[in-house]
Amino acid sequence: MPRPLSATIHTAALANNLAVARKFAPKSRIWAVVKANAYGHGLARAFPGLRATDGFGLLDLEEAAKLRELGWAGPILLLEGFFRPTDIDVIDRYSLTTAVHCDEQLRMLEMARLSKPVNIQLKMNSGMNRLGYTPEKFRVAWERARAVQGVGQITLMTHFPDADGPCGIAHQLEAFERGTEGIAGACSLSNSAAVLWHPDAHFDWVRPGIILYGASPSGKTADIADIGLKSAMTLASEIIAVQTVETGQSIGYGSTYVAAKPTKIGVVACGYADGYPRVASEGTPVIVEGVRTQLVGRVSMDMLTVDLTPCPGAGIGSRIELWGANLAIDEVASSCGTIGYELMCAIAQRVPVCAE
Ligand SMILES: *Cc1c(COP(=O)(O)O)cnc(C)c1O
Repeated sequence: MPRPLSATIHTAALANNLAVARKFAPKSRIWAVVKANAYGHGLARAFPGLRATDGFGLLDLEEAAKLRELGWAGPILLLEGFFRPTDIDVIDRYSLTTAVHCDEQLRMLEMARLSKPVNIQLKMNSGMNRLGYTPEKFRVAWERARAVQGVGQITLMTHFPDADGPCGIAHQLEAFERGTEGIAGACSLSNSAAVLWHPDAHFDWVRPGIILYGASPSGKTADIADIGLKSAMTLASEIIAVQTVETGQSIGYGSTYVAAKPTKIGVVACGYADGYPRVASEGTPVIVEGVRTQLVGRVSMDMLTVDLTPCPGAGIGSRIELWGANLAIDEVASSCGTIGYELMCAIAQRVPVCAE
């Protein structure tokens, strides 16, 4: 028997969340973002739930090839573009759309021998300052791209740094409009946050990622309450041992938790080697047999410990939900000083994953 720890991917939740994204951006086509192995859910496992999308966005050529093997014949977008001339052969073979964010990539396209034109998304740096041409240099890049024989359709693309925050997108939108003035072409701007909160930036294509997995772009559960998103991953385990500690006794490495009263503790098969963050602070929520309780003591490599005071009937074999359908991953993430994105992407190889 494997350890009683597993992640379950909820196919119906993925399909539901894609429909929610469509409801928010009804006039746009959707690039369902499945980079990083579908945010840790597994590309092959996520695919059936997301196949009603218009296209998939990802980074790795291998993942793109895998999508083709899974039977996806529609558009696939390489969000970071490509890195070497040989990558262009793969782009050609699998009919991929690629972001183009710098002159080095344009040069490689100019030199490439393609069997058919490649569609590109020319990326503007509208303020994120990672990838893309500044608004001032965008037109020249677009003209150069347009002159490349192997280039087909050119979509205009940018990415927002603050669509989920108080800074918003007005500044980037203004830069985008300035840099693309007079240039015809479909536009692709919005990540999940902009899909939910900035309808003025939806345009022709939107690129939601995190909301497809049921988590919040801002990391705050309150921000996505009542919009109908469902958690696409449940991480669950069981209690494998129970300890009753006396007042003054401690639990786990570093003896960080000292019991203030006699306390029943459940030892859970899940640790940082499974992807559960070691930095999870005392008080991080956990669900035991449907009852909410909390982490106590330090997370170790293979185990963590929970306070069983609110659920005195729990014992060895009791079901633990670490995050999922009944406990938002964002809540757990916030106790760890991070966001749901990082937790879902960090699920370790050794955790068995199944889809339902
Ligand atoms: C990851 C990514 C997205 C999706 O972002 P979410 O916040 O998960 O919606 C969209 N566009 C680009 C270019 C990305 O890299």
